[in-house]
Amino acid sequence: MNTERIIRKKRDGNSLSFDEIRDFIGGFVSGKIPDYQMSALLMAIYFNGMTDAELFDFTTVMANSGDVLDLTAFGNLSVDKHSTGGVGDKTTLVIAPIAAAVGCKVAKMSGRGLGFTGGTVDKLVSIPGYRVTLDNREFLSIVNRIGVSVVGQSDSLTPADKKIYALRDVTATVDCLPLIASSIMSKKIAAGAKNIVLNVKYGSGAFMKTPESAVELAELMLKIGKKFGKNTAAVISDMNTPLGFAVGNSLEVVEAVKLLHGANIPDFYRECITISALMVSQAKNISLSDAESLCENALKTGVAYAKFKEWIAAQGGDISYIENTDSFPKCKYSLEVLSDGCGYIAEMNTEIIGNVSCILGAGRNTADETVEFASGIVFNKKTGDYIEKGECLCRLYTQKSNLLAESESLILNAITLSDTKPKKTPQIYKIIV
Ligand code: URA
Repeated sequence: MNTERIIRKKRDGNSLSFDEIRDFIGGFVSGKIPDYQMSALLMAIYFNGMTDAELFDFTTVMANSGDVLDLTAFGNLSVDKHSTGGVGDKTTLVIAPIAAAVGCKVAKMSGRGLGFTGGTVDKLVSIPGYRVTLDNREFLSIVNRIGVSVVGQSDSLTPADKKIYALRDVTATVDCLPLIASSIMSKKIAAGAKNIVLNVKYGSGAFMKTPESAVELAELMLKIGKKFGKNTAAVISDMNTPLGFAVGNSLEVVEAVKLLHGANIPDFYRECITISALMVSQAKNISLSDAESLCENALKTGVAYAKFKEWIAAQGGDISYIENTDSFPKCKYSLEVLSDGCGYIAEMNTEIIGNVSCILGAGRNTADETVEFASGIVFNKKTGDYIEKGECLCRLYTQKSNLLAESESLILNAITLSDTKPKKTPQIYKIIV
């Protein structure tokens, strides 16, 4: 293989063959191709994009670069979902037990939080005892027995994506739609489920800032999923305000338990029902409205909550914390943030809110940082609500009192007040099947 020729070919706007993509990625993973040549290829892709054939080939090579899970034993019932990440996004904690409670097999690998978006693994690990590292045998046996297991992403899955992503992160090539789509879909394909629901968020607290760009990414991923013979659907949802009221690991687990108990948290409820209904509709080959009724019923009757406890217990989590969420460890310090003006909340800069939750200790900016499980923010008011001057906007939680003043001022600056009530945007922008 002539590495320089392949880079030149892509640089000049020509498309690469499967063999060229396979040899280039293989050479990079094995260390034969150095970082600077892969960086050059990534930049050429950044500027020239990829044809559909290249996109599919790139994804195929990355998906097959490590282990590929075999879920064929679950037939059409295996379901997976992916969220492009957000602030307060705890949907997996509710969706997974709903889908399992109505007969789906949820075998899911989740990530840890990085930057302003949280990660499901950190939320789960905040439940004392919960084990996110299981070998494939135990993982699949739990899925088989109770219908759901969620583990951390295994190192042996898509090693090519891990190595390429780390390079993209330092070469300004992360924000490239075909590279994002092939990165996400390679992991989903390797994870083996027959049915995949992609939750692509847009807004200030999301990777994609506009609904149009979220739709564009979703359509690329759908194209890949379908080419691989997967039933793939996407839910485009709003992330211009945190989802629910809680942001931070154990704070979000507590909120998820509240929803499983039937609490009225409209945006969080709508998002969970929409995504779980799509999963169920695909896996059981039934209409979306029938699937939605099944999911709503699973939540209302408490079977989803019972399934949640079964799942957490199967992975070693101490159920007493779920049965009495007051027992979750608390932060040493907390502060009520009082509004400095009155009016309707017109906007919440959700990226700033996610960053504040990181500052308070709930997230990490580099992969090796640890997180404080009880840290974060619980809102009292959200976009569209009226707030009086001096009324509580939210409460901050942290283990370090010196973080409170800066966080308070950042949060107040993240909120825009208006005399007029803002127009309500629907939580779900679009469903694409
Ligand atoms: N998430 C991924 O898994 N890959 C990307 O490229 C971007 C976000």
